[in-house]
Amino acid sequence: MAIDAVIFDWGGTLTPWHDIDLFSQWYVYAEIYDPPNARALAQQLFDAEADRWRLQRDSSGAMSTGALDSIFINLGIDTRSAAHLSALSNYLDFWAPHTLADPQASELLQQLRADGLAIGVLSNTLWPRVHHQEVFERDELAHLIDAACYTSEMDVAKPHREAFMSITAQLEVAPEQCVFVGDRIWDDIFGAQEIGMRAIWIPHSRVPSEQIPDGDAIPDAIANELIEVLGIVRQWRSV
Ligand SMILES: [Mg+2]
Repeated sequence: MAIDAVIFDWGGTLTPWHDIDLFSQWYVYAEIYDPPNARALAQQLFDAEADRWRLQRDSSGAMSTGALDSIFINLGIDTRSAAHLSALSNYLDFWAPHTLADPQASELLQQLRADGLAIGVLSNTLWPRVHHQEVFERDELAHLIDAACYTSEMDVAKPHREAFMSITAQLEVAPEQCVFVGDRIWDDIFGAQEIGMRAIWIPHSRVPSEQIPDGDAIPDAIANELIEVLGIVRQWRSV
């Protein structure tokens, strides 16, 4: 079959899954931004984020979480203040050890590109593009990615078909000629298959139960290690 592109999810896929204490990520922000009220502010941020993800999930991606900045702004935080920038830096430092790329990612992307395939990323994320770009540059993947779509910049999110269409449009490929690789059965596998992509599942993420909607999908293949994607794609292309 003709395959022109391989599109990857980010968290739990190009970057291995980590269990994160989501209150702590906000506490490290709040203890810099507003030390006397750190615990209360962290709770407000935690609740606001949870509401965004719930809305996105319950709408099957028809509404995205929006961008990180909008959470701060809605809580009256001045995102241009020195206190905010310092607190945000602490938040990103908290995340840094949890965003390291899978050690096999670079080799996989290089091999796929050597095979003539375009590489895309489609991530359900609150983070602005600049944070993701910094992570990909740190891990020396940025130059191997032809296009990336982040739902923080979009009105929709996976599994909504328009989210998948946005990355195929960026790559200028037909959905039927794409393979999608992701760790979530609903957002990634179901969504990709709905618009005609083949989907490979990375089965190691411990996705919290409240983040898993009802519904099921059967992946076209399973990659127990990221590098196995290469053999699966080559095998599909050879038939
Ligand atoms: Mg993921």
